[in-house]
Amino acid sequence: MSADEEAVYLGLGANLGNRAANLRMALRYMSSLARVDAVSSLYETVPVGSNGSPEASQDQPSFYNAVCRIATGLSPEALLDYLERVEFEIGRRPAPHWAARPVDLDVLLYGERVVETDRLGVPHLRLAERAFVLVPLAEIAADVRHPVLGRTIGEMLASLDEPELAGVTRLEPPGWERT
Ligand code: ADP
Ligand code: MG
Repeated sequence: MSADEEAVYLGLGANLGNRAANLRMALRYMSSLARVDAVSSLYETVPVGSNGSPEASQDQPSFYNAVCRIATGLSPEALLDYLERVEFEIGRRPAPHWAARPVDLDVLLYGERVVETDRLGVPHLRLAERAFVLVPLAEIAADVRHPVLGRTIGEMLASLDEPELAGVTRLEPPGWERT
């Protein structure tokens, strides 16, 4: 990583259309912007409702989820602009917060930075409670420390309950994005 670059972890999700293809396309867009250093396995996950319970949104298709690490010198805001453009390119249109979507791209961690603006909360505000984020993230960032909570990703994963973990199923090992 060069001096002006930081390690950024992105969460990728999809629950409409060809979910794996949408995530592959999102990763291709990311590699045209930045170096993609690592990609997790591909997971299928039970939708989590607005109240955080797995039962709340089972009328939605299940999600495919993965995470990746990129090295970028882009500011967090400029990166979010790009993610929103990629979401649009892959077919996402404005819709209610909890609606099904062809792709969802989130900034999970941006180096050690803490960002709190109207548009952006980094580290992602719901990181610590989301099995569909922590399980793939622990594959490529187990020892990375949350700059606010002070705990590592591995430690956060270890404190999740069994019912949350049960909603996360590994579909494909690393390398799925190249197939
Ligand atoms: P979610 O990703 O929680 O399912 P949405 O993708 O619908 O929900 O929410 C997008 C909104 O979240 C955007 O308006 C964006 O500005 C805001 N947001 C706040 N923090 C982040 C972040 N770290 N990464 C991506 N979007 C974020
Ligand atoms: Mg999002």
